[in-house]
Amino acid sequence: MTHAEHDHHHHGDEGQEPPSDLALRVKALESLLVEKGLVDAAALDAIIETYEHKVGPRDGAKVVALAWTDAAYRQRLLADATAAIAELGFGGRQGEHMIAVENTPSVHNLVVCTLCSCYPWPVLGLPPVWYKSAPYRSRAVIDPRGVLAEFGLAVGEDVEIRVWDSTAEVRYLVLPERPEGIEHLDAEALAALVTRDSMIGVAKVPLPSAPV
Ligand code: FE
Repeated sequence: MTHAEHDHHHHGDEGQEPPSDLALRVKALESLLVEKGLVDAAALDAIIETYEHKVGPRDGAKVVALAWTDAAYRQRLLADATAAIAELGFGGRQGEHMIAVENTPSVHNLVVCTLCSCYPWPVLGLPPVWYKSAPYRSRAVIDPRGVLAEFGLAVGEDVEIRVWDSTAEVRYLVLPERPEGIEHLDAEALAALVTRDSMIGVAKVPLPSAPV
């Protein structure tokens, strides 16, 4: 049990709550697998490093921006997100079965994993700490409107909120609404505006802060 002893907090959880029961179980399993020679600790670290620093929400933002600017791509994304995302070269681990859900003036989509922290790594990287927290996981289902209000997003009573529970099988990407008034921007400029939170469904895509 060498790995667990000097590495109580998992990567990215600095300054937060103590590790959850699940995190401790994962650590214990990892230590055991390493001890038995079944996995290489360095290989595990390399995987985490990749998804923390190399893959991130910028990849998802490219998918969203292309869907905003290319109607045929948007159709393909909504019909088969895994294949459409793979067209841009993104895919693999934790993104094998992707579903894209589209926000409209009458429907707002919100993604959660009530069981643990399932998340679409190939398009969003690793989940934020709050996504893994027990309050978010439970309350997103019971009181999505209240949770969104706490994120600063007021969703009108006339808008239906759909909550999608991620699993080991299926991961969701929210296709947020394109803000009004930026139709002249190209896909690259649009992608720069798309935030991680808008693709989880806890925020809208903000308008550019400066005139463009
Ligand atoms: Fe999960």
